[in-house]
Amino acid sequence: MKRTIFFIGNDSRFAFRVSLFAFRVTQITFYLICLVLLSFLNPASGQNNDSSSILHSPSSTRPTWVLVIHGGAGGPGKGGMPADLEKQYTDKLQEVLEAGKEVLSKGGTSLDAVETCIRMMEDSPLFNAGKGAVFTEEGKNELDASIMDGKTLKAGAVAGVSTIKNPITAARAVMEKSKHVMLIDGGAEKFAKEQGLEIVKPSYFYTKKRWDEYEKVHQQEMKGKAEENPKHGTVGAVALDAYGNLAAGTSTGGMTNKMKGRIGDSPIIGAGTYANNATCAISATGHGEFFIRNVVAYDISALMEYKGLSLDAAAHLVVDQKLKSQGADGGLIGVDKNGNITLPFNTKAMFRGTIRSGGKAIVNIYPD
Ligand code: ASP
Repeated sequence: MKRTIFFIGNDSRFAFRVSLFAFRVTQITFYLICLVLLSFLNPASGQNNDSSSILHSPSSTRPTWVLVIHGGAGGPGKGGMPADLEKQYTDKLQEVLEAGKEVLSKGGTSLDAVETCIRMMEDSPLFNAGKGAVFTEEGKNELDASIMDGKTLKAGAVAGVSTIKNPITAARAVMEKSKHVMLIDGGAEKFAKEQGLEIVKPSYFYTKKRWDEYEKVHQQEMKGKAEENPKHGTVGAVALDAYGNLAAGTSTGGMTNKMKGRIGDSPIIGAGTYANNATCAISATGHGEFFIRNVVAYDISALMEYKGLSLDAAAHLVVDQKLKSQGADGGLIGVDKNGNITLPFNTKAMFRGTIRSGGKAIVNIYPD
């Protein structure tokens, strides 16, 4: 009897150990399933943070994708623009952000989003790019654009073109289908035609608003008493996609009454546009000569790479200190490899918008 009790006791200890083991296995399996489910919800980064409040500050978590656009810096300050015109700008920027969202949320690349957004702004007469570009001193439109891929550091640009409907698409074709980085004037137009891009008559780019601006500035400059040059309206976009790749693009008609053949910063890689997966993507707008001399877009990337500055600190140093101290007006948009953004400008206004995975489109014109 004593012996039997001894064996029953041993059996129950064994059974207890088996059930404890089974419980632990179930527990670990449950944790593993939870982990797999969580990473499935956010395949690109394994992290998700949709609070728009961290848009302007460095964050430790990376959103799946981020898009920032601009429609130029300058123009009158708050209250200086008719309300209906202001609404046209904010509506268009909103529409452009939604189109970019469509691309990025469906797994499109940052290059696709940048090109899509810029094409829409080029097609709108509201902006100084594509339809709606400003006039040269000869009363013509000469357009510049560039695009850069942060993953490969490949870039493409066109400058001084007057028959390519969407210069940003021509810039991308130069990057992807030619062995060069920049094509100008007739050479760029011949290449665009060969690539099957849409070619238009130079008169396509005419708008009465820009012509009136040109006549006013032209007369003033002829008399040697030019007032502030209305040069706002350049467009640009920067994006981070779900694959962690950055891209930047910029498109412009340049500056009203510019000399024939003048090229601004927008098609100059490193000045008006720059993208590098190791740092950031930048698109600038403002007085181009200063942006070229200061190599603005690359300077921000270099400050991040060599000095360890955050995107926001680097961008503000360049726009608020360097450019301002030289009397250069303008601004820029940027996104870094972690999805942090920056939108500094030293003018009274900059048309701009942001959107990120899980967040809402935010459009602004004046300082916050
Ligand atoms: N940066 C452009 C240029 O100088 C103009 C602008 O952004 O308003 O051509």
